[in-house]
Amino acid sequence: MSDRYAVIGNPIGFSKSPLIHGTFARMTGQDLVYEAIEGPLNGFNERVDQFRTEGAKGLNITAPFKLDAFAYANELSESAKRAGAANCLKFDGDRIVAENFDGIGLVRDITVNLGVKMTGRRVLMLGAGGAARGALLPFLRQEPSELVLVNRTLSKAVALAEEFAGFGPLIVSGYAELADLAEGYDVVVNATSASLRGELPPLPGNVFRGAELAYELAYGKGLTPFLQAARAEGVAKLADGVGMLVEQAAEAFAWWRGVRPSTAQVIAELTVPLS
Ligand code: NDP
Repeated sequence: MSDRYAVIGNPIGFSKSPLIHGTFARMTGQDLVYEAIEGPLNGFNERVDQFRTEGAKGLNITAPFKLDAFAYANELSESAKRAGAANCLKFDGDRIVAENFDGIGLVRDITVNLGVKMTGRRVLMLGAGGAARGALLPFLRQEPSELVLVNRTLSKAVALAEEFAGFGPLIVSGYAELADLAEGYDVVVNATSASLRGELPPLPGNVFRGAELAYELAYGKGLTPFLQAARAEGVAKLADGVGMLVEQAAEAFAWWRGVRPSTAQVIAELTVPLS
């Protein structure tokens, strides 16, 4: 019988994960089935218990269950611990191991797929929610000269900066103060959820000046207000989060199956033109 995996979220109808993992399985000759589960908003544990009882080997987790999955696990990887959330689980007998590949997926997309170096460069990240938190350690491990974290609710960014203080040059700012920090960011990353509602974080005009890359974590939204603003300021490279999505999936696949699929073809298939 084929090994079983799934993605769980709510809603789940638009998830690309079954398509991505199905393609990876064909590309690597792995015998597995991959489903989409619409998890109940109350009753995550019971639904996952059931899936495990049926012999499942692993689970990807999307909104709103990343904290539930973190709490459900009985072993945590370093990146899951640091992210405070799990986007992937592996089931091995009584072991329920949690991982979080979102941050490494984002870094791989920026540095490998888009070919933009972060080492020794100035990086600006907008947002201090779950995605930003998961990206902090992988970003700092790239050894940027400076990582500026800005958030609407400043206290959340301050708390993150305190937690990650020992890992590298992390600076916190509110949007209003951002204009006073020296301009000249090489990479500007939108890890807020503003684009999901067609909103633009209150950025001062100078943040994109001279930037090589503007990266939007949301995907499938075309040219978001953030990407439009970056384009208007002359940023040459614009990207949305589809590459991050596929790269985190490839990390999960490799962790489960011991073989890393190539990602270029899947990214190309899922990419919606930014226009
Ligand atoms: P959270 O809800 O955890 O955090 C949302 C963040 O956005 C907070 O920092 C919030 O600020 C900020 N925010 C929301 N609206 C605005 C606004 N109008 N102006 C300024 N800041 C705003 O969300 P996630 O971290 O889970 O997700 C963030 C984004 O990343 C989403 O677009 C999501 O789709 C995307 N994502 C993409 C993935 C991929 O694979 N490509 C994977 C995971 C996420 P405050 O704290 O003040 O409320």
